[in-house]
Amino acid sequence: MVMEIRTGPEQLNAFEIAQRQFDEAVEHMTLKAGVVKMLRLPKRELTVNFPVRMDDGSVKMFTGYRVHHSTVRGPTKGGIRYHPAVTLDEVRALAMWMTWKCAVVNIPFGGAKGGVVVDPKGLSMRELENLTRRYATEISILMSPDGDIPAPDVGTNPQVMAWIMDTYSMHKGHSVPAVVTGKPIEIGGSQGRIEATGRGVIFCIEAAMKRLEMHAVYPNGLEGARVAVQGFGNVGSVTAYLAQDAGARVVAISDVRGGIYNPRGLNVRDVIRHREETGSVVNYPGAEGITNGELLTLDCDVLVPAALENQITAENAQYVRAKIIAEGANGPLTPTADAVFADRKILVIPDILCNAGGVTVSYFEWVQGLQYFFWQEAQINEQLRAIMNRSFEEVWQTAQQHKVNMRIGAYIRAVQRVHDATVIRGIYP
Ligand code: NAD
Repeated sequence: MVMEIRTGPEQLNAFEIAQRQFDEAVEHMTLKAGVVKMLRLPKRELTVNFPVRMDDGSVKMFTGYRVHHSTVRGPTKGGIRYHPAVTLDEVRALAMWMTWKCAVVNIPFGGAKGGVVVDPKGLSMRELENLTRRYATEISILMSPDGDIPAPDVGTNPQVMAWIMDTYSMHKGHSVPAVVTGKPIEIGGSQGRIEATGRGVIFCIEAAMKRLEMHAVYPNGLEGARVAVQGFGNVGSVTAYLAQDAGARVVAISDVRGGIYNPRGLNVRDVIRHREETGSVVNYPGAEGITNGELLTLDCDVLVPAALENQITAENAQYVRAKIIAEGANGPLTPTADAVFADRKILVIPDILCNAGGVTVSYFEWVQGLQYFFWQEAQINEQLRAIMNRSFEEVWQTAQQHKVNMRIGAYIRAVQRVHDATVIRGIYP
């Protein structure tokens, strides 16, 4: 039976969605009411309005945020987003999801997120550096290697992390590599960090294909499976080329300007080259142009939304034809879409599990930075594989036991860990 699709406008406030997901998980658990009240809300929120000198000599004001959702299990960890649509509620949601993500994979961090309301593509390199250094200074009252450790997210990259690390270090008078992760290798970044999120997505897809017994059709993991990827930044592009390396046919790719489709499979590294030359995947030769909406409903085995929130909604969920949806992005599905997929028996690998490879290798980078001792890439990828496979199995089992979908299964594991840590620490004073 396919559930009735709501036709009215869906609530798309990311923080309300995050709270709703939390509330749904809590219904399946026996928790202390006071702790539940505490975990529904972020611990602290900083809003900063700050000036940046532009290339033409003028001064422009920007608004940024840094939100800590929970510090119970360790220092807070979470990326920094530069995007014109950033809001405080979005940053709150992303911070809360970071708490659960770190707990799902059981690494000793709480959740945070930051954002600046800006289109980074509209800035020169100097303006971007000025903005980053000033924002880093503004949030430095919250940021430190043992307090809050940022990382890249949409619109930021290793160079932005390098400026943050340098700004913080200048204020301290000595280098502090462990204050951010996702840094360039030359200044203490970790081998394998750039690929980590996409690699973790691939590990999850392979585990899901095994669990769904798809080997009857695809006996060698991803080999021959048809994959469509929405978003072609850090997460989407790495997921796409690792899928292709594993033998998958990457039939469609998109970015903010539109998508490309070839049912015989795209040459992903050549698409990356085309994007580097032209700024977008669109007009890639040898592929048909499609819209982002069309990509989501293509006939494929695995769909990887790896762009932004609320891409799959009440409006389009019933037309999705993939068997597995692997959430490379944070929050790409609305609760209504989740319900549609549960009903249609389409497996959703939830963001707080699926894209946790990034924060896991960020954890390795932080540990390496604190110890000034660096690991080989093979060791990092092996430990990442072990953590992702273990976490996938734990979430799968929990979902089976509670007869819930994988998202609620992941929440149950994560919320239990954070709840128990809170109870053991006690409510101060
Ligand atoms: P990015 O800035 O590197 O890339 C974003 C991509 O999405 C770009 O290709 C952009 O063109 C595309 N895009 C933007 N708006 C779009 C739209 N409306 N439709 C289609 N495509 C659109 O960002 P990223 O780091 O790859 O992050 C992507 C998602 O993954 C975000 O939800 C982020 O929070 C999540 N995530 C990132 C990491 C990480 O390590 N970078 C880790 C975990 C989760």
